[in-house]
Parts: sequence; C-alpha cells; structure tokens
Amino acid sequence: MKKLMAANWKMYKTAEEAFDTAAELVALCGASLPDDREVLVIPPFTALGRAGQALAGNPRFLLGGQNFYPEEQGAFTGEISPAMLLDAGCAFALAGHSERRHVMGETDEMVGRKVAFGLEKGLSVILCVGERIEERRAGQVEDVLRVQLDKGLAGVPRDVDPVRLVVAYEPVWAIGTGEVAGPEEIVQAHGAVRRELLRLFGEAGHEVRVQYGGSVKPDNAAEIIHLDNVDGVLVGGASLRADSFSRIVLAD
Ligand code: PEP
Repeated sequence: MKKLMAANWKMYKTAEEAFDTAAELVALCGASLPDDREVLVIPPFTALGRAGQALAGNPRFLLGGQNFYPEEQGAFTGEISPAMLLDAGCAFALAGHSERRHVMGETDEMVGRKVAFGLEKGLSVILCVGERIEERRAGQVEDVLRVQLDKGLAGVPRDVDPVRLVVAYEPVWAIGTGEVAGPEEIVQAHGAVRRELLRLFGEAGHEVRVQYGGSVKPDNAAEIIHLDNVDGVLVGGASLRADSFSRIVLAD
C-alpha cells in the first residue's frame, strides 16, 4: 500500500504560484520519492490547470480538488462537478474537510452524498473525519468518528475498489493550530477508523488508506507516518512551501 502524502493548499496561491510550488516540489523530491509513496497536490480550482502542468509526466504526483457538488451539472452557482475535476486532470477530491463542515455548514448527509457520487463518477475520494475539542473532552471521539464514517460512507457500494477510497482523520482542534495529536491519540483514533472500515467493507477495509491531518510539520512527520494504521498525511499550512512539504513527503 503506497502512503498518500497530500498537500491541501486551501484558498492560497494564484495559478502561477501554484505552478511554481508544484514544479519546485517535483524538482525537490521527484527523483528521490520512495517507492511506497504517492504525492497529491490539492490547489484551489483556479490553479488546477497550471499545477497539473507542473506535475505532468510524474505518475506518482497526483492532482486533487478540494470539494465538489454531488450532481452531474445544472443550476448550482459556485459549485463544481466531479466530471469537471476529472476534466481538469484530478484523480482525487476531498469530501467533508472540517472547514467545509464547520465554516460552510456541510452536514454528514451532504458529505455522504458527495463521497458516493464522486466515487460513482470516477474520482478517488478522501473522506475527512475528526472530532472537535469539546467532543474529545467528553470522551466521544470514537462515537463521533463512527457516525461520520457511517453517514459519510452510507452510499458507497460494499464492493468499492478500496484503493479509490481514503479516510483522513483530522481532529478539528489540531487543524491549523500548531497543536498536533499525540502518537497515542493518533493510534487510538486510526484504530477506531480501521475497525469501522472492516465492519463496513470486510477484509477490503484493510486496503482503505487512513491519513492523519492536523499540524503535520517536517519535524513531526517521520514519527507520525510510522504509527499503526497511518497510511499517509493530509497537510495544510506546512504544504504551502515546497521545501517544507518535500521534507514531509520524504520523511523517514
Ligand atoms: C488541513 O488543511 O487538512 C490541515 C490538516 O491543515 P494544517 O496542516 O495546517 O493543520
């Protein structure tokens, strides 16, 4: 199973800035990328084309979209469809990032519609899940994850190709805060995610990659990616600069 090292550029970078950063990333780690890694760059929609040009010709450097709407096409101003992301060169897309859930108000049900629709239309999908700090303090982490996974995956066929489905465990309190979850917290949460995946998909649940996200940095990446059931990372702030993200991608 290849570890998926993903850069979420959120609402940062013009098309040219994205091109430059992606090109620098390929220059810094293209030749030395270990066999067990894939790199996923997730720029804003307006930069997909230029970022894709910088990654072209490097099969283990993939492009992803940050969001999509679960309809083929239509009167959905401001939205983008899976077919449009595929047309722009994306292999992957995020669904249910915590900023979509907690800033834009996306519900578990909407996230579930997105996951099922995106997979059906040919995207690989990263379902983001994670608890808020008050839920952790109340001892509800596993319950929150179970509900988000069950609703997020409700429409996904049980025989889905597990390689096309990724779950990112991103505790909300660790995103963009500099506060990283400790190794035991990560192992516990990823274990809970894995158990739920096995319950939902049988043995194929072992092949669904589970990423950690939340203040991953060059100096903590090596420890995190070697923890049990950690199959990659989803990185925001520390992915914005190629020198920093390349050190995460190559961390060992
Ligand atoms: C993210 O955007 O998914 C994320 C984990 O951000 P950061 O690495 O900045 O915490």
